[in-house]
Amino acid sequence: MTPQTFEKAEAPVSLDLLAELARDPQLRQEWRGERSPELGKLFDDAFLLIGGLKHASAWEIETLLDELGCHRRSREELESLEAPDLEHCIAFLEWLTDLERETPDVDVTCELLRTASRMYARLRRDVGERESLISCELIVNAPLGQAGDRDLTPLDLIRIGEVGPAFQFAATMAKGKLGDDARQLADENPFSRLSLVHVRPSIMDAILRFDVDSPTLSSERIARLAEHIDGCDACRREYEAHVGPAEPPLQVRCTPLAPLSR
Ligand SMILES: [Zn+2]
Repeated sequence: MTPQTFEKAEAPVSLDLLAELARDPQLRQEWRGERSPELGKLFDDAFLLIGGLKHASAWEIETLLDELGCHRRSREELESLEAPDLEHCIAFLEWLTDLERETPDVDVTCELLRTASRMYARLRRDVGERESLISCELIVNAPLGQAGDRDLTPLDLIRIGEVGPAFQFAATMAKGKLGDDARQLADENPFSRLSLVHVRPSIMDAILRFDVDSPTLSSERIARLAEHIDGCDACRREYEAHVGPAEPPLQVRCTPLAPLSR
């Protein structure tokens, strides 16, 4: 099972309409001028969240809207944008914002926004608008449920930058066809399901090669990975199988290069 399990994101119409207003200041001003203060306030809240995601991802606005799965809509269609639509957009954008705040760096943020939008789109198709968002929130916070994982959740994997595996695990806990497909795939491929190692081999290798000038991983991500590997039996065993005993602990080795706080 790979992150490519999710097709390109398809935003709901409400987010398409919000995107039209986000990309055109003139249109925004006109639309805003003709709406009630309450609707205007909801729009402002949604617009701020889009600005926050643009800043966090360092993407141009068009790239961000494209990754969120937005399509162009006509001026006339904007007439239909009402409070419940904006409230739904806000809930979705807040979910992304909450996740984004947990990432160790911009690269991971971009991968997160892309993957999370795709999973949300897929769930929407399977289980409907409202249910999909509730599901998304629940499954990224649900324990992975594998022996030895204690309370590790997909969100914990996002914190160490393992976005692909995080959403692969999340998908196996989803309702509807997405969950059924992911569980079937996991059953057919024992390696994806039974692996208790949370850090991909390619990332283990990148840590081994780590030095101050490493272009591959940010120092914050290295620090979080070191902390995880030191504290996780499965990942430490995997690391030691690569290079021998993890002594001194990885955190000690990496700390002078990478402060643990963000
Ligand atoms: Zn681990």
